Amino acid sequence: MKEEYDDSEAYDSAAREAINLGNRLADVDQEADVWDIADGLLAGAVQYWLYARQPCGNPECEDCETVNTAEKRLSELLRYIDELVKESEYYHSPNDINAGTA
Ligand SMILES: [Zn+2]
Repeated sequence: MKEEYDDSEAYDSAAREAINLGNRLADVDQEADVWDIADGLLAGAVQYWLYARQPCGNPECEDCETVNTAEKRLSELLRYIDELVKESEYYHSPNDINAGTA
């Protein structure tokens, strides 16, 4: 399932650009809260994802099977975010209050 998302140059470049944008915004406005920047980036990314993943309109379409209702799109988005979070090198932090107790 994962390959369908991350095997393209467009995927790599979009992910890299999003991170670069966050770093640039934090750089330009030293007062900015990086949590706000991160939340804004996520809000924009979610908006774009929902826009891009609208079903084509053919109720029989197999490509759109996982996104052909609002509930399925939400579920697919959450499934994918869960996967991304758990793959991230930042998922676990040495400052986690339960670090080392797992
Ligand atoms: Zn379709």
